[in-house]
Amino acid sequence: MNFEEKEILNQRLEPASGVLYVVGTPIGNLGDLSPRAKSLLKNVSAIACEDTRHSGQLLRGLGTTTTPLISFHTHNIQSRIPKLLALLKNGESLALISDAGLPGISDPGEELVCAARTEGLSVICIPGPCAATTALVTSGLPSNRFCFEGFLPSKAKDRKQRLSMIVYEQRTTIIYEAPHRLLKLLHELIELCGEGRPLLVARELTKRYEEQIGPNIGAVIKHFMKNKPKGECTLVLGGATSIENEQLSSSELIDKMQMLIKNGASSNEAARKLAEETVHSKRFLYNLLHKTAQPDSP
Ligand code: SAM
Repeated sequence: MNFEEKEILNQRLEPASGVLYVVGTPIGNLGDLSPRAKSLLKNVSAIACEDTRHSGQLLRGLGTTTTPLISFHTHNIQSRIPKLLALLKNGESLALISDAGLPGISDPGEELVCAARTEGLSVICIPGPCAATTALVTSGLPSNRFCFEGFLPSKAKDRKQRLSMIVYEQRTTIIYEAPHRLLKLLHELIELCGEGRPLLVARELTKRYEEQIGPNIGAVIKHFMKNKPKGECTLVLGGATSIENEQLSSSELIDKMQMLIKNGASSNEAARKLAEETVHSKRFLYNLLHKTAQPDSP
């Protein structure tokens, strides 16, 4: 990038008419709000935000109190979307922010972006911090392939189903959890994955008392049994090894494929997906599912 291009990028960002801007805001440290985000939030026609009081404070910190705030949270998404789309169609520019981090990542946003795209409206992201990727890159666990689970379901049956998929996942898995539920989740994980599975809990990222606790489930549980979990936590769980997956019994393999089928996969796809995650061939798994399994050919 030459100097001239840098100058152009540093210029004040003038919001364009009829555009929905998805704006990343800090996950703790106000210094992480980008100059582009600041400029946009000051100059946009209106800001849709989860909590108007919380975002009002952010705007006051930027020295602006004039940009109108429109509440947009989990409980009014459906009623608000038509109003926000009408503003955009009327030529107004709209910023979407959440209480912290990137809207749409375990925060409201996805439905509005989808509705705007369906109407042919432009959507531009002003990127910013996200707890998931911030925790991942500080964990030292493989980041070339990873998956994001967000918050696990709280309903017992759905939660069990989700955990049973996570335990055999070979990619690094990122999970969000509230501090008062952290120990429950850690006990579920130790039961399923064993104490040696790599785990890092990133706590209070970007804040004064930021800390990372690891390196495995056993050590993390020990730490939080002594120190009551407090603040915001993101878990980065190491993936299962093929050896761990090799130890699955036939009925566990079948259960796992049936779970995939329940989630919309065909038997063929379920066998292929599990073959990628275990040492078994797709043919063996497919046959196992249909109860005609022969040992894997060499
Ligand atoms: N949209 C946000 C993002 O981009 O990261 C996530 C919002 S979600 C409602 C809140 C969860 O994110 C928290 O319960 C915690 O798991 C994680 N989180 C948010 N800020 C964090 C921080 N500073 N340190 C660690 N985890 C954080």
